[in-house]
Amino acid sequence: MNNHKLAHIGISSNIRAACASKLSYISTIMVRAKHFVYKKHFDGFPKDGDLVLEEEELPAIKDGEFLAEAVYLSVDPYMRKYAPWQPLNKTFYGRQIAVIKDSKNSKFPKGQHVLASFGWRSHTISDGVSKDPFPIKILPDYGGLPLSLGLGVLGHTGHTAYIGFLEISQPKVGETVVVSGAAGAVGSIVGQIAKIKGCKVIGIAGSDKKGKWLTEELKFDRFINYKTQDVKTTLQEFAPEGVDYYFDNVGGEISSTVIYQLNPHGRVSACGSISEYNDGGQKVTPIYFPLVAKELKIEGFQSRSWYHRWDEAVAQNLKWIQEGKLKYNETVTEGFENMFVAFTDMLRGGNIGKAIVKA
Ligand code: NAP
Repeated sequence: MNNHKLAHIGISSNIRAACASKLSYISTIMVRAKHFVYKKHFDGFPKDGDLVLEEEELPAIKDGEFLAEAVYLSVDPYMRKYAPWQPLNKTFYGRQIAVIKDSKNSKFPKGQHVLASFGWRSHTISDGVSKDPFPIKILPDYGGLPLSLGLGVLGHTGHTAYIGFLEISQPKVGETVVVSGAAGAVGSIVGQIAKIKGCKVIGIAGSDKKGKWLTEELKFDRFINYKTQDVKTTLQEFAPEGVDYYFDNVGGEISSTVIYQLNPHGRVSACGSISEYNDGGQKVTPIYFPLVAKELKIEGFQSRSWYHRWDEAVAQNLKWIQEGKLKYNETVTEGFENMFVAFTDMLRGGNIGKAIVKA
C-alpha cells in the first residue's frame, strides 16, 4: 500500500493520519482554487500529462452563489469510460463532498456539506444549479457515520448496487449469484445485499487479499481469483447447481464464461465492463448461443435513470449498516494533488471497496 493511501475499514475504524494540509486558502478577498485540467484525451491507460494540476483565482461570490471547498473526492471507472466525450482544457469531471465556506444562497447555508458534480477541483463557486442530471444535494445526517460514505455505500455506488441488484433481476431466496468486480465499490455491496436476501454468493476479483475480505468479513460463500484461477472450472466446482443470476461489473471474457454457466432463464444485470475501458476490449467468446438457447435475460441499466429511488436506496443501505448487516471499506488517498494517482490505482485494482481522495 502506498504511503499516501489509507484504508477505512468497517464502521469502527478511524482514519490513520491527520487531515492533509489544505491546498488552497480562503480569505475575505480571494480564493486560489486548484483543479485538474483535461489536456489530452486518454489513449489507452491514462498517463501523466493527460490531466494537469493548475491554479486559478476565484472571484468573490455574488448574490445567489456559494463557495464550497472539497473535503472528499470520488475516483470512478466512469471517468475513464466516458472520457472520450469530455471537453479538453476544462476541469475534469467527477463528484465530491464539499463544505460550504461562504454563501449568498439561502438554500445552501454556510457550514453544510453538499454532494455535487463539481469535478476535480479544490474550490467551487456554484449558483446551486447542477450542471449534470444529479442535483446538488445537502448531505443528510448519517447518525455518526463518516461523511465520505456519501460517495460510496450511501451515494452513487450504493444506489447502483441497490437498484442494479434488487430491481433489475429480482433475485429470490436460495438462488446462486455471481458478482464480478466483487471487492470493488459496487460489487462488495451487491454481494452483501444478495446475502441479506438469502442467496448463495460467489465473488470474482483480482487478488487473494480481496478474496479473504469477501469471504471472511463480508461472508461471501466463495471467491474466485480471476488472475490465478480458471474461472470456468472453479465456478463449476463452486456452483454445480449452475448460476441463476450474474451481476456484471467487468464484461470481457470473465463475463462470457459466467454467462455460459447460467441456468435456463438466468438473468444478468449489466452494470459495467471495466475490462474494456482502457483498450476498447479484447476478443471474447460470443454469448449469443447461450442467450437464446437458455432464454437468458441480460439487462443494462444506468443509475441516473433511477434517481427517483435515490432516497430509498440510501435509507435502506444506511439501515443495513446500522443493523450490522452491511459493511463497507474505503481506500482513501490523502491529498487533492494525488487525484490522478488514486484514479489510476483504482483502474489497476488497487482499491478494496470505494476509492476516494481526502483533500
Ligand atoms: P470498483 O469495482 O471499485 O473499481 C474498479 C475495479 O475493477 C478494480 O478495483 C479492479 O479490481 C477491477 N478491474 C480493473 N480492470 C479489470 C479487468 N480488466 N478485469 C476485471 N476487473 C478489473 O469500481 P466501481 O465504482 O464499483 O464500478 C464497478 C463497475 O460498475 C464499473 O464497470 C463501472 O463502470 C460500473 N458502474 C456502473 C454504473 C451504472 O449506472 N451502470 C454505476 C456505477 C458503476 P480487481 O482487483 O478485481 O481487478
